[in-house]
Amino acid sequence: MLIVQKFGGSSVADPARIGRVADRVAATVRDGHQVVVVVSAMGDTTDDLLALAGAVSANPAPRELDMLLSTGEQVSIALLSMALAARDCPAVSLTGGQAGIRTNGFYAKGKIIQIDTRRVRAELEKGRVVVVAGFQGVSEDGEITTLGRGGSDTTAVALAAALEAGLCEIYTDVDGVYTADPRVVPDARKLEVISHDEMLELASLGAVVLHPRAAELAKLYAVPLVVRSSFNNGPGTLIKEVDDMEQAAVVSGVAHDANVAKIGLFDVEDRPGIASRIFQELAREYVNVDMIIQGAMRDGRNDIAFTVSRDDLPRALEAVRRIQDQVGAKGITYDDGVAKISIVGAGMVSHPGVAAAMFEALAEAGINIAMISTSEIKVSCVIRREEIEEAVRVLHRKFKLGSGS
Ligand code: ADP
Ligand code: ASP
Ligand code: MG
Repeated sequence: MLIVQKFGGSSVADPARIGRVADRVAATVRDGHQVVVVVSAMGDTTDDLLALAGAVSANPAPRELDMLLSTGEQVSIALLSMALAARDCPAVSLTGGQAGIRTNGFYAKGKIIQIDTRRVRAELEKGRVVVVAGFQGVSEDGEITTLGRGGSDTTAVALAAALEAGLCEIYTDVDGVYTADPRVVPDARKLEVISHDEMLELASLGAVVLHPRAAELAKLYAVPLVVRSSFNNGPGTLIKEVDDMEQAAVVSGVAHDANVAKIGLFDVEDRPGIASRIFQELAREYVNVDMIIQGAMRDGRNDIAFTVSRDDLPRALEAVRRIQDQVGAKGITYDDGVAKISIVGAGMVSHPGVAAAMFEALAEAGINIAMISTSEIKVSCVIRREEIEEAVRVLHRKFKLGSGS
């Protein structure tokens, strides 16, 4: 079988760990499988590179940042290939571009649009393990673009889809997908199975254990996916199509995202085309807008508030300031001290009262809700950032998700 194995930064943080990864990959090859490996940069390398950039420029060009960040993964692929060769396991390292990973041209937020798998297949045919740099690809213009923080997961799932791999394994520093971030909730429970839909919601709502785009591609291409620990042989969490809605948990997990900022436009004109104008301008800046609230106000005027990722706040503010007069907004405010807390569960749709229970638990803890949004399988609230960890624990307890409950 063809297996794609992805190892995150903590799994390749030092030479000893790279050695252990090589042992695992070599064992998979000995079991008779073809293996494509995707690796992240070692440990905190990506953060260190970002800090380096900040030390030479207050405002580094996105192109040069991507050029810099892409080097982190290149160190890992070369070292892992050497470690494999040292174990008599022939291997070849490939950058994203060499592996045929074509991205759209957006720096720092590149999306994989296509993978030309010829080179990877040819190397596999030669009996080699192919070690691919995660988190990067090359645009049509030959520009190196990265896929957003955590994007190596997406490289792995996209390669698994393109190669029609029998399995994609995401090896990380936790035993699988938990009911909440185990760093915040000590008694969080590991899930044996989770549906693609729930995984996509959890990932999109801040559970960094899987990159949202990886969850999206896994669902779209029905990639058989497992999240497991690189430090033990536990079975991990299987992500698959679960169709038994009757069995679905009302709430399967709590996700949180502290990387959120809120923007408000006050007293904008209440006429057709205003919202369209505002959000078109944000889309032009490639800012993803998350929650949107528009209050129907008095005297033909509206207030519109929305959230964006904190990294996008400066560009989002620039965009709305540019069109402030056009939409007749009397004022613009922003708040970068907020965070988003969410509950996710496929069974929610058939159980009224879940949102009410969430609001009740937050109220009991004295946590104020600034914004709310819901879908069939999730409820999200924007709250103060300093209250986010408390909120995660409170909701985890409320919905009895813990291993002790
Ligand atoms: P890697 O470097 O392997 O990609 P990440 O740090 O990106 O690892 O992702 C793993 C981390 O995700 C865990 O250490 C954990 O703190 C965090 N995490 C957040 N939410 C969850 C969750 N629901 N289940 C498991 N881990 C989670
Ligand atoms: N090295 C990149 C990051 O730290 C990509 C990844 O690890 O998935 O975000
Ligand atoms: Mg990650």
